[in-house]
Amino acid sequence: MTLVRGRGLEVWDDGGRSYLDLIGGLGALSLGHAHPAWVRAVTDAASTIGLTTNLVHTRPQAELASRLAALLPIPDARVFLCNSGAEANEALLKLVRKHGLALGKTAIVVLEGSFHGRTVATLAATGQPAKRAPFEPLLDWFRFVPPGDAAALEQALSPGDVAAVLLEPVLGEGGVVPLPAGYLRRARELCDLRGALLAVDEVQSGTGRCGEWLAISSSGVVPDVASLAKALGGGLPIGALVARADLSFAPGEHASTFGGGPVPCCAALAVLETIEADGLLAHVDAMGSLLRDEVSRLAPAGSLADVRGAGLLCGFQVAADAGRVVTALRDRGVLASTAGADTVRFTPPYVTTPQEVDVAAKALAASIQEVAAA
Ligand code: PLP
Repeated sequence: MTLVRGRGLEVWDDGGRSYLDLIGGLGALSLGHAHPAWVRAVTDAASTIGLTTNLVHTRPQAELASRLAALLPIPDARVFLCNSGAEANEALLKLVRKHGLALGKTAIVVLEGSFHGRTVATLAATGQPAKRAPFEPLLDWFRFVPPGDAAALEQALSPGDVAAVLLEPVLGEGGVVPLPAGYLRRARELCDLRGALLAVDEVQSGTGRCGEWLAISSSGVVPDVASLAKALGGGLPIGALVARADLSFAPGEHASTFGGGPVPCCAALAVLETIEADGLLAHVDAMGSLLRDEVSRLAPAGSLADVRGAGLLCGFQVAADAGRVVTALRDRGVLASTAGADTVRFTPPYVTTPQEVDVAAKALAASIQEVAAA
C-alpha cells in the first residue's frame, strides 16, 4: 500500500482507495492529515526564518518553551527541545544521571515491559529483553521492576542508591497498559522518601493523547521530569524534555543542531493552540471512552481478553493474533497498529468524530469475528 494524500483521518492510496487512519503516525499525528492551522503555521515558519541551531534563540523556540512550562504541572520548569522521543529520553537519562551522581546515587529504576526508544541508552532502559538482546551488554544503570507492583518498587529503592524512577504512566508499546493511580501516587511517595526523582516518559501518552497534557496528571501526581515527543509536533519531528529548574544542564553539557528549529516549533505551537482553542482535551477523553465502549459492546462474546487505555491511546487485547486482526482491518479500510502480539492499538488524531469512532468500532468487531472464524 502506498499512501499519497490525507485529510483529517482519511487517507488515499495510489489506486484511489480511501482508508480511515487510526494509526495516526503512531500517535504523532495529533491534528490529523493536513490540518489547516498546522499547515499555515508550518508554511509561514518555513518562509520566515531558516535553521539557527540552538546556539541562538528564536521567537518560536522561546514561545514553545514558555507554553510547555506553563501547561505542564512541573513547577518552575525549564525546557530542552530536540527531535524525537528517544532523544528526549536520552537527555532525560543524562539529566537524572548527572543529578544522581552529585548525590552518590547511580541506579535508575525502570519498568519491565516499558519502551523508551532505540538509541543505546534508551534501549538499555527499555524493559523488553527481546529488543535489548542483540545489542547486549548495554549500560548497567538500570534496575527493572514489574509494573504496578508497589512492593517491588519499594524494594528496588531501598538500597538508597536510586537517582530516579522512570516510568510510562500508560505503557504504550508494552500493550497499552495504564498504571493504577494508587501505584503512581505510591511511586511519588517512595521517591520522596528515598530522595529519588520521579521521571515520566510521556512521549506516547502526553501532549493530550490521554485527555490531559500529561497522562500522569489524572492521578494527581506531579513528576520532577517529563519527556514529550510524538503528538507535540503534529507530524513534524520534535521532542521536549521538561524538568524542574534546579535539574538543568550547564551550558555545553547537552545540545542538538536541529533541536528547537523554527519550523517544528511553530508546528508544535499550532498543535498546542488548536488543542486549547478547540477543547480537544475533553474531546479526546470523550472519543476514547466512546471507542472503547463501542468495541466492547460490538465485539463477539469471548473474543476480547481486555480493553485498555486512556483518551485516544486505546488497546484491545484479542483472543487471537493481533497482526491478523490488523490485516483484516486494513482490508475493511481501517488502519491500526499492534502493541505486543495480542493487542490491537488505535492512536487516532484528536479530531476523530463520533461517526469515525462508529466506523472503526464496527470494523474492529467484524475483523475480530473474521479472524476468530478462520
Ligand atoms: N518512549 C515511548 C513511550 C515511546 O512510545 C516511543 C516510541 O514509540 C519512544 C519513547 C521513542 O520515540 P521516537 O520513536 O520518537 O524516538
